[in-house]
Amino acid sequence: MRSTNPVESPARTIHDFSRNPMLVYWEMTQACGLACKHCRAEAMPHPHPLELNTSESMAFLNQLLDFGDPLPHLILTGGDPLSRADLFPLIDYACGLGLEVSITPSATPLLTNDAITSLRQHGIQSLGLSLDGSTAEKHDAIRAVPGTFERTMEAARHAGRLGIPIQVNTLVAEETAADLPAIYHLLKNSFPVMRWSLFFLISVGRGKALNEVRPEVGEDIMRWVFDLVPRAPFAIKTTEAPSYRRIAIEKMRACGTSSSQMKNTAVYKGFQIRDGHGIVFVSNLGDIYPSGFLPLRCGNVRKNSLVHVYRESEIFRGLHSPDQFRGKCGECEYGHVCGGSRARAFAYTGDVLETDPFCPYVPGKQAAATMV
Ligand code: SF4
Repeated sequence: MRSTNPVESPARTIHDFSRNPMLVYWEMTQACGLACKHCRAEAMPHPHPLELNTSESMAFLNQLLDFGDPLPHLILTGGDPLSRADLFPLIDYACGLGLEVSITPSATPLLTNDAITSLRQHGIQSLGLSLDGSTAEKHDAIRAVPGTFERTMEAARHAGRLGIPIQVNTLVAEETAADLPAIYHLLKNSFPVMRWSLFFLISVGRGKALNEVRPEVGEDIMRWVFDLVPRAPFAIKTTEAPSYRRIAIEKMRACGTSSSQMKNTAVYKGFQIRDGHGIVFVSNLGDIYPSGFLPLRCGNVRKNSLVHVYRESEIFRGLHSPDQFRGKCGECEYGHVCGGSRARAFAYTGDVLETDPFCPYVPGKQAAATMV
């Protein structure tokens, strides 16, 4: 049986993630001029012939309104969203519906300063850029195309000049782990960054070409991140490593941080959010997945209601219910705030509700007296 939650459930009054996702990721296209070693999308040079066309895309965007208040934030991803000829009309359409829209373009020749300026003019709220190395040599080796480091840096500098909030996404893998401190210093000194997102690799797509860090190395990295947060000039978050929340709670408790003080921290805002709970992913073909890293197709926006699938489909209902999780994650006192990476559990076991093998924590270690 699960013990009581270490921190009482957050944001219930604002956001019930079993009803409304915070983020909807839309893979607008698989087309991309890059061939990154860890690409989730297994991007290809040309769009899939069956990708959602403009009118189907607009019909999908209309569906997002059915979530009601609070509306999700829409993140345009790919492939390379800039390769869609109807990108700007679709951004205009989404903004006209009242949606907040962010974008994660690829560092191809399409990512010009003019394109970034146009994104700003069309109402993009923030720009996501990938930086996986502190030098051109290191970054371009991961991205497999020379010149992507410098193009990313120039895009970030230009976005900074325009005042566009920038999220930098960095891969955490055996191949990048030692370089993370240098990447941090580069970000600190090069352009204004809103958020640094550390994506802990899962072996899907081209990710199989790179290696996940071992769990104990991952724990060390997460502890380093937590210690960095108070000094960093930007927010730092982890992706596909929700056990960072356990580490943060453990460290805050060790410092005597009270439950109410914890609720004012940035890490608290991410509590509960995981694949399929707070997040939903729609592919270039309209297929609905719990996240871009969890290849369990749950429906298609061409014929299913995204809202219904998110709230009622069997897979999503399981993902909304940590009490249904199995193994350690099912017994863990951090199950509600963390819940483990459902994508990694699925990648390793084929069971989306199983234990996240990346987490070495042994549930029940936390004495009941110290629970909040
Ligand atoms: S055992 Fe699972 S729920 Fe508990 S901290 Fe680890 S990943 Fe999170």
